Amino acid sequence: MLTLLGPAIALLFTGAFLGVWNRWRRLRYLLWLASTFFLFSTAALSQILLIPRDFGLNAVISCILYTAAVLVFADGLLMRMDLRSDYLLNFTGALLVIGGVSYFFYIDRNLHARIYILNFGLAALLLRTALKIGRAANTRIDRALSWTLLVFALQFFPRTILSLGYIGNRRDLAALTQSPFWIWLNFSFIIFTVVLGLMLLAVVVSDIVRTLHQNANTDPLTGLLNRRGFEEFVDRQVLKTRPRVLSLIIFDIDDFKSINDSYGHHGGDAVLTQVASLVQRNIRASDAVARLGGEEFIVLLSNLDRGDVYAFAERLRNEIAHTRFGSDGLSSHTVTASFGVVEFRSGEDLDEAVRRADEMLYSAKRSGKNRTLAS
Ligand code: GH3
Ligand code: MG
Ligand code: MG
Repeated sequence: MLTLLGPAIALLFTGAFLGVWNRWRRLRYLLWLASTFFLFSTAALSQILLIPRDFGLNAVISCILYTAAVLVFADGLLMRMDLRSDYLLNFTGALLVIGGVSYFFYIDRNLHARIYILNFGLAALLLRTALKIGRAANTRIDRALSWTLLVFALQFFPRTILSLGYIGNRRDLAALTQSPFWIWLNFSFIIFTVVLGLMLLAVVVSDIVRTLHQNANTDPLTGLLNRRGFEEFVDRQVLKTRPRVLSLIIFDIDDFKSINDSYGHHGGDAVLTQVASLVQRNIRASDAVARLGGEEFIVLLSNLDRGDVYAFAERLRNEIAHTRFGSDGLSSHTVTASFGVVEFRSGEDLDEAVRRADEMLYSAKRSGKNRTLAS
């Protein structure tokens, strides 16, 4: 019964990952995790239920399934972190493990050699993945995952040596598998698998929370921050770097309605997207740009003097005015924008600074558009 517990738990994790994937298709690596646990479960079942019945075929097929589980697992975890799998190394590793197991069944029958090759080979592949993740990890949850995986990979070594030492050259394998030591060995593996599975679920939950947070803070059209994301950035920036001086630029595209009227909503959207990436290209990592709504944008700049902020706004204004907006008949169309610039006063909050920048912007509109006014 205990031996069936492992595959049953693996199937539960398969279902859990598939269920979450069904709702969060963007987290594609969930499919890889589900496949990992499914492959593992199939491999274990094929061994336990002796399907296929032929010993040699059984050894080779379960070995292929275990190897596939480990490779798919590694690939999924690396994909999650935008890391590349080393396919040549994976292929070589798989070939050595599967080839070795086949060799020590069909050519030089040796159970110990087969068990060593399978367990050490797969442990080495897992170890490599754990180290790769550990090197790239920059969040607490990624580091925790890398450590869990490291321990999981390392436990294969003592486990294999212990079980082979225990088997020794005994013939009565049936009695052996009833012994408390053997049961403990199996049970501890189940515990390790459950811990790893739960760790992975924690990683998934943290990815979902991060995605939700990002969605809540992002403007879907341009990919810029929205007002809420901008407010959060300003709070964080002030707390983190305590800049000497903070400035705001607010700008609004001129006569945007006529762009929509001439080129349709789609054409208008294309202009918004292009303007957004133009600004994004021009700011530093410590600055932020957000779309406040409609065709109005806001930029936060830190530690620039008034003159430099004004010059920066003028540069943006000129770049926008000289950009040819290229999409669906818009390619010869140019647009202009009006700018309001303010420097934060001491003790002033974001709302108040935005209000003053807005006033500057509307003065710029009233005095003929396509210009920058600073207070
Ligand atoms: P002004 O020079 O005074 O700023 O005039 P304007 O036409 O740019 O400003 P107005 O506020 O009169 O019109 C803004 C238009 O922007 C109206 C609205 O339909 C359009 N708009 C708002 N959001 C979007 C959007 O997401 N996509 C597109 N294509 N148009 C949008
Ligand atoms: Mg406008
Ligand atoms: Mg507007």
